[in-house]
Amino acid sequence: MLIKQATVPTKWDKRFRYLFERMPFGHETIALSQWVSSQGAVRYLGEWHTHPEDYPRPSGLDRLEWNRLSAKRRDQRSMLAVIVGRKALYVELVPSSGCGSVLAALE
Ligand SMILES: [Zn+2]
Repeated sequence: MLIKQATVPTKWDKRFRYLFERMPFGHETIALSQWVSSQGAVRYLGEWHTHPEDYPRPSGLDRLEWNRLSAKRRDQRSMLAVIVGRKALYVELVPSSGCGSVLAALE
């Protein structure tokens, strides 16, 4: 899995210190255009957001949203979920049901 591009918040997204609501405009258009132009080689992998904590942990709301998004995937693949903290990343592969795999950084 290679992350080729990550979209940044758009003017339609709603951003607060403890909540981020992503609107599909912009993000979906970019993902779809990459998928079409690469004939399916480049595809949507998942979502990322930031947390105002050193070592981020997913909230209950994060888990609900990840499970919902993963179950929605047409290719049935696990969704990559990334939280960017102040000192570390939290990275998990979230399947459409059941527990996900937390990915650890290489030291
Ligand atoms: Zn979060």
